Amino acid sequence: MNQVFNEAAKIIGSSKKCIALTGAGISAESGIPTFRSKGGLWNSYDPTVYASIDTFMKDPSKYWSIRGDFIRKYNDYSPNQGHLALASLENAGIVKCIITQNIDGLHRKAGSKKVLEIHGSLREIFCISCGKEYIAPDIPPGDVPHCTCGGVLKPNTVLFGEDLPPAVLSEAEEYAASCDVMILAGTSATVYPAAYLPVTAKRNGAKVIEINLEYSFTDSDIFIEEKSGTALPMIEEQLKKIEV
Ligand code: NAD
Repeated sequence: MNQVFNEAAKIIGSSKKCIALTGAGISAESGIPTFRSKGGLWNSYDPTVYASIDTFMKDPSKYWSIRGDFIRKYNDYSPNQGHLALASLENAGIVKCIITQNIDGLHRKAGSKKVLEIHGSLREIFCISCGKEYIAPDIPPGDVPHCTCGGVLKPNTVLFGEDLPPAVLSEAEEYAASCDVMILAGTSATVYPAAYLPVTAKRNGAKVIEINLEYSFTDSDIFIEEKSGTALPMIEEQLKKIEV
């Protein structure tokens, strides 16, 4: 196993533009379940009903019934060793950008600065009538929280049927096209357009290092079958040891 960390560290250490693409798996060790793996949210709830913009506009109570608890406990979740290792690699000038599909804000809490949240963030919540902003967990009470103006509140996240924020997506695509190493951590790489990003990176000659409990991206140069909270600190450790 050490061999694979060493190989990954050598590739990352000699990179000029290493970026990371992260998904729900990197936050699993912070106690936030992934959507698709065992025990995930979508095993119990149909996302096309509970997390679609159409349903939200007709009946926001379904969405709030599965998300309200998380938002009210927003400050209870902490970054794990995986988030912290990526932040530390950025601090050392090695990782240039983290593109995340996660909406939990844990990369920022870990201290990462260049974070592209392509699916938005549960931290920011807007009134769909007047646009007033609330910051989680400080939201009004109620099963469906309402603004002081009476409008329904909606987190600033991308629901099924909504477009990704164009400026953030286009910056993520530029990073994917110009990086020479992409670390894929804890993503099933099945949600589009995020799933195109490693394909773009490979097409432009980047090496892809995948960290996951199961093999997901079929074109990885290195696959590390390990929890990201273990693997990323191990890579960081190896980077300190090797001379590149
Ligand atoms: P996914 O649920 O499709 O896949 C998660 C992947 O992580 C799986 O391949 C799984 O094997 C792997 N994994 C699980 N635990 C891991 C660990 N400890 N270390 C490494 N890998 C681990 O998630 P996705 O690819 O991010 O795509 C689904 C969508 O889910 C995204 O749009 C994202 O917005 C959303 N989501 C976000 C959160 C969050 O913000 N924390 C949580 C659930 C879902």
